[in-house]
Amino acid sequence: MAAMATDTTSSIVPASDRSPSSWGLGDGRAIPWEYAPAPEARDIVTLKERYGLFIGGRDVPASDGGTFGTLNPATEETLAHVARATPADADRAVRAARRAQTRSWGTLPGRERAKYLFRIARILQERSREFAVLESMDSGKPIKEARDVDVPLAAAHFWYYAGWADKLGYAFPGRVARPLGVAAQIIPWNFPLLMLSWKIAPALAAGNTVVLKPASTTPLSALLFADVCRQADLPPGVVNILTGPGEVGMALVTHPGVDKVAFTGSTEIGKRIAKGVAGTDKALTLELGGKAANIVFDDAPLDQAIEGIVNGIYFNQGEVCCAGSRLLVQESIAETLIDKLKDRLATIRVGDPLDKNTDVGAINSRAQLDKITELVASGVAEGAELYQPACDLPERGFFFRPTLFTNVAQSHRIAREEIFGPVLSVLTFRTPDEAVEKANNTIYGLSAGIWTDKGSRILEMAQRMRAGVVWANTFNRFDPTSPFGGYKESGFGREGGMHGLHAYVRLEDR
Ligand code: NDP
Repeated sequence: MAAMATDTTSSIVPASDRSPSSWGLGDGRAIPWEYAPAPEARDIVTLKERYGLFIGGRDVPASDGGTFGTLNPATEETLAHVARATPADADRAVRAARRAQTRSWGTLPGRERAKYLFRIARILQERSREFAVLESMDSGKPIKEARDVDVPLAAAHFWYYAGWADKLGYAFPGRVARPLGVAAQIIPWNFPLLMLSWKIAPALAAGNTVVLKPASTTPLSALLFADVCRQADLPPGVVNILTGPGEVGMALVTHPGVDKVAFTGSTEIGKRIAKGVAGTDKALTLELGGKAANIVFDDAPLDQAIEGIVNGIYFNQGEVCCAGSRLLVQESIAETLIDKLKDRLATIRVGDPLDKNTDVGAINSRAQLDKITELVASGVAEGAELYQPACDLPERGFFFRPTLFTNVAQSHRIAREEIFGPVLSVLTFRTPDEAVEKANNTIYGLSAGIWTDKGSRILEMAQRMRAGVVWANTFNRFDPTSPFGGYKESGFGREGGMHGLHAYVRLEDR
């Protein structure tokens, strides 16, 4: 971090003059005010010292008794120890899921499955504060995002797919939708509970059973979800949770008892998983990395666009696969927009994720912080101009300042590689054709954003984007009814909406 010391030289007004605490009434005197701390109480969460695996409805230790610790990335304290599953445990979990699929869940009428999903949705809502606090502690995300985005959206996915469970015949008219069987689901650490719900809700609605492996740095909300399954009286084995390293994920992927693999994570691991299922008849969906372009035209409502840009890249510390990490600005407004953006950056509050005022929390792990730091250093070395607002970072924990790069060339690593951190690269364009060319000049194709006053331009640009999701005059909006997924190295298959259901059924003629 030392090499990344605050750089305010590139701004027209020094950042020290921009902070809210120095905004005055015009007579030269600053009004000294700051937000008072507003910490969320953590006593709603009861942490166990040790957590087991959730197999066949029971809490069981790993077959070799192994465990690993999970940290709070904001304090570096160990929150709990969780069981470290082995390939033998993967086998146990797949067998439990198979038994449940053939004996209970797969034969249950859709309207009965729906009742369980509604029950899970309701319990998630009832226990929402507990989930939000736990998620914030284990992942580093700000409590206001866990509270207002992750948990409500997770519940919304269960509500939504509960509605489909007895209507599969309407989703696929003229066909009979049969469950695939046992689904192995591997999820990342950026939206642990939300990714769990994206995967488990449609799978269960369609009559499949699941074995889910959460990321090693964020296992706790999945284990709390196991508790929700028990509370909802879900038949044993319908949902199984295996905490453990990547090898356990691969043991699931290659297990002959698995019918469907769903993965969200890095493109590198996605490729390995694709190789792991090659030559089998397993169904596969991959939701991988991204390097989204957020394109601002000269007729865009600028203040609104600023909020969209900030939400696009600093939401969840930028640890978002569809983050708007490449800002493409029309040249004629670039200077004005960058000035406004720097002003806005000065008001972003970085710090304790459990403080309700915090905008940017902790980076998920030391390894991720090192990756961000290395990529930002490469941006400086390759000649881009760095800007970071003046803000104090907590002494402990994994924190990184919101970062803005101007003078970025398309060849720079910061313009090509997924940083997965609060780092925005600004590029400019003159014509819509140039914007399209630059936006699509990436190996990825997950999302894009378009800011303009003209409806016809939105439609034309959206059609020309090689991206699975295109937002217009907004960014990072999610809804369970809307499909989400990528092109190119961002993966294939869709999650969400009816498309998400399609990934979990085999369609047969009547
Ligand atoms: P990974 O792709 O390694 O992790 C995602 C999930 O896959 C985790 O549950 C992980 O387990 C598991 N996994 C790891 N190796 C294997 C394997 N060989 N077989 C099966 N499953 C495996 O992401 P990282 O956490 O390592 O992050 C690396 C980079 O990936 C980030 O810097 C970011 O750029 C990108 N990323 C992208 C995401 C996206 O949604 N597009 C999400 C997360 C990361 P475990 O945690 O135990 O290693």
